[in-house]
Amino acid sequence: MTNKTQIIIAGAGPVGCVVGLILARAGISVTILESENDLIPELRASTFHPPTLDMLDDLGVTPKLIDQGLITPKIQYRDLEDGLVAEFDHALIDDRTKHPYRLQCEQFKLTRIIAEMLKEFPHAEISFDSKFVDASQTDNAVRVFYETPAGSEQVTCDYLIGADGSRSEVRKSQKIEFQGFTYPEQFVTVSVPEDVDKIVPGMGHVCYIAHPTQWCALIHAPDYWRFLFPIPMETTKEEAFDDDFLESRLQHLAPHQERYAIQLRTLYGVNQRVAETYRLGRILLAGDSAHVNNPLGGMGMNGGIHDGVNLA
Ligand SMILES: Cc1cc2nc3c(=O)[nH]c(=O)nc-3n(C[C@H](O)[C@H](O)[C@H](O)COP(=O)(O)OP(=O)(O)OC[C@H]3O[C@@H](n4cnc5c(N)ncnc54)[C@H](O)[C@@H]3O)c2cc1C
Repeated sequence: MTNKTQIIIAGAGPVGCVVGLILARAGISVTILESENDLIPELRASTFHPPTLDMLDDLGVTPKLIDQGLITPKIQYRDLEDGLVAEFDHALIDDRTKHPYRLQCEQFKLTRIIAEMLKEFPHAEISFDSKFVDASQTDNAVRVFYETPAGSEQVTCDYLIGADGSRSEVRKSQKIEFQGFTYPEQFVTVSVPEDVDKIVPGMGHVCYIAHPTQWCALIHAPDYWRFLFPIPMETTKEEAFDDDFLESRLQHLAPHQERYAIQLRTLYGVNQRVAETYRLGRILLAGDSAHVNNPLGGMGMNGGIHDGVNLA
């Protein structure tokens, strides 16, 4: 890496990549430091909302996402006992957006698309295996310290953007508080290849199913259907991932004559927190480093991308 670049971004997640692309297109030299040795392939966000698709369209990204995604014009609200309660059709807002639908497309597809687009800009770079560790600033510049397998490095830039996720080292290095709370339950996600709308005719491709304790968010992603539901805090990972336990929950939510062919399963805690400030001089936060929320409704990545677009 050159030892002077205009902007350093910590983190090549969805937010860091979007900010990097906007800056690169504006002719600004930008380096994204990513602690991992490649883009994260983790299955997390999978919903893009209409305003986000409009924003990414301006960058030439949306058509590439649509090629790899699934257009979902309607969302449903159901009651677990009583069935369909309401259905909302995004066609009703087609006078306000070029993309009157939710696009189901995994976030790793977005980062891969942008990483490929960034290769066209000689003044833009993603530096893998580069872990941000600290930063100090003057009125005119920021000095960024990071670690690589070859040892400690430093670089000077005009601005540093912390897009390094909810455990942001940029935020911690600047001693910015991250106040809020942890929800008193854990969330499990389970992906299955079965077409759930054939098992439960009429089931929406984005569906929120209400129940006091066994509620569920169901999403049809391009290659699978994903159930998300709560379990008590005290449940261990082993118990949560037990085949029979998961099977009984899925059967309760969408009764099927056969066993589900469960593929991926994840378990995580849920937080609602916000940084006390998004900016300290020449150091700024965007995305999960600045705010985290309940993933229901798919606002985390979308809100982070909106941060990034506004910031860049
Ligand atoms: C199961 C699940 C489902 C979700 N579904 C949705 C959804 O449908 N829609 C939605 O909008 N949101 C959803 N979210 C939330 C969404 O995944 C996050 O809001 C989003 O990933 C935030 O993007 P980010 O770029 O800010 O951070 P991240 O995606 O966390 O990316 C941060 C990047 O920084 C890197 N990094 C970390 N530390 C350092 C360091 N010290 N130095 C350099 N690099 C570093 C990481 O390796 C990573 O690549 C979901 C979350 C979960 C867990």
